Amino acid sequence: MADLRLPTDTIVRPDKDRFLNEENPFEAMMSRLDRAAKLLDLEPGIYKVLRSAEKEITVSIPVMMDNGEVEVFTGIRVLHNTSRGPAKGGIRFDMNVTLDEVKALAAWMTWKCAVVNIPFGGAKGGVICDPLKMSVGELERVTRRYTSGIIQTLGPDSDVPAPDVNTNERVMAWLMDTYSMHVGHTVNAVTTGKPVEMGGSLGRREATGRGVMITTVQALEYLKMNVTGATVAVQGFGNVGSIGAQLLQQAGCTVVAVSDRTGGWYNPKGIDVDDAIAYVKKHKTLDGYGHGEAVTNAQLLELDVDVLVPAALENVITTKNARNIRAKVICEGANGPTTAVAEEILDEKGIFVIPDILANAGGVTVSYFEWVQNRGGYYWTEQVVNDRLRDIMVNSFRDVLKLSTQHRVNMRTAAYMVAISRVATVHRLRGIYA
Ligand code: GLU
Repeated sequence: MADLRLPTDTIVRPDKDRFLNEENPFEAMMSRLDRAAKLLDLEPGIYKVLRSAEKEITVSIPVMMDNGEVEVFTGIRVLHNTSRGPAKGGIRFDMNVTLDEVKALAAWMTWKCAVVNIPFGGAKGGVICDPLKMSVGELERVTRRYTSGIIQTLGPDSDVPAPDVNTNERVMAWLMDTYSMHVGHTVNAVTTGKPVEMGGSLGRREATGRGVMITTVQALEYLKMNVTGATVAVQGFGNVGSIGAQLLQQAGCTVVAVSDRTGGWYNPKGIDVDDAIAYVKKHKTLDGYGHGEAVTNAQLLELDVDVLVPAALENVITTKNARNIRAKVICEGANGPTTAVAEEILDEKGIFVIPDILANAGGVTVSYFEWVQNRGGYYWTEQVVNDRLRDIMVNSFRDVLKLSTQHRVNMRTAAYMVAISRVATVHRLRGIYA
């Protein structure tokens, strides 16, 4: 039989010179895929399949704005891999959305679903817009027109979106309604992260933050560090950051710094996270919060803390600041907060990183529960959701840790190895349809 192994020189090592642009998330994803593929001795055929996205859709979204003028936005949906099940992944509304970013994020979803072993592939979507400058009506019209633009790919068995940066339950409700109107009946399993009143799952809103808390506690226990009193800095105070901070505080940690796009607050005695959440509910941002010393987002990352939770956007830990990071544990609540080159610096410094595809997988795990509940038409209590989430997060953390110690690789490489081998196994079993 022909030797299907990949010649070793075909896989490019993630060496520094290769990065034309350190902050291109697609490059970062590829370099990590390459490293894990090499360690797994992956066949070249499967390697080539995993490097490419199955489907990339770009649509223009003409929208009548409130001022009576037509604006045309661009929307993207990328399905990276559906070998293990329907494509799954959020939709973000942001001015910085690019095709490369969405492709990387779609692949990250493939790996994320595989790390926690839920039967989904990976997808991501984005609309280039500034939702903070748009009215509710404009947002609804953008959502509905984008949904109809990508309707061919959507469906409970094919592609199931969810919230992501700057999208929420309300956006998912509009998406579900638009899809249902097109097909002629209510299909609540077409998206997850919906309002509970219309088929959303209890515990979904808190799920990503809960996963961040569970994996952080696992890491602290593994490193024999005290959970009680462990100091934590959280960058980002959206759904993931605020709830992650709140649950870490409930677990006994001292949250000493929080931030959002307006900047951050540092108080070595601890910040009352419930109070900060109440402040943001009232004032929309942390601007003017004042319970502590004002810090920039950049300063927050370099604070002398036990745990750092970057829970905002990608590329915040780069070659520019990685050497200054003092945290002992980093729990990546955001997708792609650490660039591939910065990761090597963190490794040299002995920082224990819980990689994004594991750390923030709580959200998609409860999305899976939501999809299961929608399809079964039978709804679980919040306790059942939280208990099942805990089981999956703890087991996944242990699977990754085991491989990391066995192969003497960092947690990220181990997580990629777990994920890629699960996806590759399915490709081997299914073969190539010709
Ligand atoms: N947007 C979230 C993520 O990046 C959730 C995706 C989902 O639930 O499908 O993991």
